[in-house]
Amino acid sequence: MSEIVYLNGEFMPPEKAVVPVLDRGFIFGDGVYEVIPVYSRYPFRLPEHLRRLQHSLDGIRLANPMSDAEWTGLILDIIARNGGDDQSVYLQVTRGVAMRDHAFPKNAKPTVLMMSSPLVTPAAELVESGVPAITATDYRWLKCDVKSISLLGNCLLRQQAVDAGAAETVLFRDGYLTEASASNVFVVKDGKLLAPPKNHLVLPGITYDVVLELARANSIPLEVREISEQEVRSADELWVTSSTKEVLAVTTLDGKPVGSGRPGAVFHQMHQLYQDFKRTVMRQAA
Ligand code: PMP
Repeated sequence: MSEIVYLNGEFMPPEKAVVPVLDRGFIFGDGVYEVIPVYSRYPFRLPEHLRRLQHSLDGIRLANPMSDAEWTGLILDIIARNGGDDQSVYLQVTRGVAMRDHAFPKNAKPTVLMMSSPLVTPAAELVESGVPAITATDYRWLKCDVKSISLLGNCLLRQQAVDAGAAETVLFRDGYLTEASASNVFVVKDGKLLAPPKNHLVLPGITYDVVLELARANSIPLEVREISEQEVRSADELWVTSSTKEVLAVTTLDGKPVGSGRPGAVFHQMHQLYQDFKRTVMRQAA
């Protein structure tokens, strides 16, 4: 948990950080957020996270309360004020405090919260073994590209995985793969990496982009296109990606083995490329 939290212009201990009950984040889930992984006190892909934050703010028609330079300064500040080299910085912006009315308030000031917790990436054993996943119908809204704090759909779907003893819930909409409850999904078939396109049905993952870049730079055959449920169920390999999971192999889907039931060769290659890439970026930042 954060030792120091930032709320509306001030740093304070988490127990002092309180918002009025009429905050639209609390009442409507009217806000957006970002999660930025920090390695050796260096925020990974920060410009990309700030670009996605702007996209989310645009998506809910909320003016950005800060410039990128201000965000960067604050993020570096919260990293410095909190312990640990590897952190996970969480920031959220809501439409602020106003009398309860669905329509936007005229003069509300956005609420800005930022906190940091230790970054927990998958243990080596999980990387080696892979994880189980289940599947479900993607019943979330049609603006999944907005990183909205209204995460009820994602929470319900993720809990389904937990109840089934699985790590993730892989989602299908109209017979096609979208993503998972808290990660993007990749398929490997006959040595080719398949990725669903970025559109309004998926969150544009920062890790997703890194994986695509690494695949292209290392000549891993790649297709970005719609992937049918059938293709997912007959995949040689299935991966989930996110800032905290990094790249993780899914080795059973709805209780059935994916491919050989072990993390595959392309996964091992990508996992290594991702770790090397992180180290290179951190070295350049040092
Ligand atoms: N999709 C969803 C629904 C997510 O919640 C996340 C993680 N926030 C991702 C994809 C992966 O995004 P990123 O790589 O930026 O962590």
